[in-house]
Amino acid sequence: MKVAFVSSEVVPFSKTGGMADVSAALPKALKTLDVEVKVFTPKYGKFLDKNLKLKIIKNFPSTEILINGNTKNVKYFSSTLPHSNVEVILIENEFYFGRDNIYTTDPDEGERFIFFQKAVLEFLKQTDWIPDLIHLNDWQTALIPYYIKEKYPVFRSSASLLTLHNVAYQGIFPPDILPVADVDEKLFFPTGPAEYYGNFNFLKMGIFFSDVINTVSPTYAKEILTEEFGAGLEGILNERKNDLVGILNGVDYKEWDPASDPLIFENYNSTSLELKTENKIGLCKEIKMRYRKTFPLVGFISRLTEQKGIDLLIEILPELLKLKACFVILGAGEKKYEEQLLEFGKRYSSKLKVIIGYDNTLAHKIEAGADIFLMPSRFEPCGLNQIYSLKYGTAPVVRATGGLRDTVIPYNGNDSNSLRNADGFAFDDYSATQFLKTVQFAVSTYKQKGVWKKLQLNGMSRDFSWDVSAAKYKELYEKAIRQKREV
Ligand code: ADP
Repeated sequence: MKVAFVSSEVVPFSKTGGMADVSAALPKALKTLDVEVKVFTPKYGKFLDKNLKLKIIKNFPSTEILINGNTKNVKYFSSTLPHSNVEVILIENEFYFGRDNIYTTDPDEGERFIFFQKAVLEFLKQTDWIPDLIHLNDWQTALIPYYIKEKYPVFRSSASLLTLHNVAYQGIFPPDILPVADVDEKLFFPTGPAEYYGNFNFLKMGIFFSDVINTVSPTYAKEILTEEFGAGLEGILNERKNDLVGILNGVDYKEWDPASDPLIFENYNSTSLELKTENKIGLCKEIKMRYRKTFPLVGFISRLTEQKGIDLLIEILPELLKLKACFVILGAGEKKYEEQLLEFGKRYSSKLKVIIGYDNTLAHKIEAGADIFLMPSRFEPCGLNQIYSLKYGTAPVVRATGGLRDTVIPYNGNDSNSLRNADGFAFDDYSATQFLKTVQFAVSTYKQKGVWKKLQLNGMSRDFSWDVSAAKYKELYEKAIRQKREV
């Protein structure tokens, strides 16, 4: 089975969020299941680690991509995903991908990813590598199902799968993008596949034209059918619900396992949990916070956007800081959140450290050094940090939504049955009161050493490796290919 895996971010070439991790780990796991997979992603000049080896691919009949009647040049580079022989094709155009950010608010943002998608299809066509299935990820790739059905007859037998990592990001642009996208005007009418409240919507096109669709957790697949979570696409998603499934993301334990993680102070596993303390001491020293033996250290690592529940966190911080606990927050994103958090950090510096920025090494140290991890998300398609936390014996406190609901087994404190499998804490409503109560409960449970250790061990024993999820993707590929060939 030949699969082209197309994504606008792939670790270690680029990353803004969890999709980049998925786009590296899943293709590697698929390869071990005998799927012949090639990964396609833009080459963002400013973000590329100089140590990565890239080779230019030569001898294309044409390196010109036609955008709205103008030709734009493309260069293709080849590399592999680390520790694997999975080939990655990087698409270069300095004008489109040499910018200061991976995603921009520039007026040609849509055009950048139209170019990307066309360049992928040109590569496949010109190298005569016709995939059985093209796997797309989010809006930046969501026009390909339309292109392969309507614009490139050479792909008429290729099936398509669109993975929705987050339906809140849809790629919405004014209708004058239609000729740039080479989309037929006939599709642009109220309730039509290309129209969304007077604008053009990449993701809606993808949902309409792809053969199968999935989200990154089973709960999120159900949630997006409702007004609360569908971000305006619940109508079309309901029309496609028979072709919509949820497959939980796996995580890459080569990167995220306290037993082997080279980025933390001291490695540990479930039989040497006491060494976790060394990580707490090391982290406190590094972030210049007094180490307090009996206080749990509570961690939070996130993009600072509304989705992640920062407003709830900020609302309850004054109450949280009355607890016998210390807090470390690592995040970057919206300015207003960064400023509010920094202000709290200054005011309560003995018990709260706020670090603004993106720092992968520090993220690992926080996972290893913290006792409790907070994820009060408004919505969460899957979420990775709670899964890492389980592995690091760092009990997650989550809002029971999307992938958070599917991965954390909450402790209720009332019966011994609950402790048998529980590995974290959860609250249902998006409410500051419920969040506060749940953190207070977690902090008081921390004092019960036996109970706490059981929660940690339960979490550490759970397995969210990619093997299981990759097998589910392979099944879904087979289903999509069968479906396509029956038509
Ligand atoms: P999302 O993709 O919505 O941002 P996920 O939980 O799926 O959320 O994935 C987030 C990933 O990005 C995790 O690997 C997390 O550790 C990392 N991350 C997020 N913010 C930061 C940050 N400020 N510094 C370091 N890593 C971060």
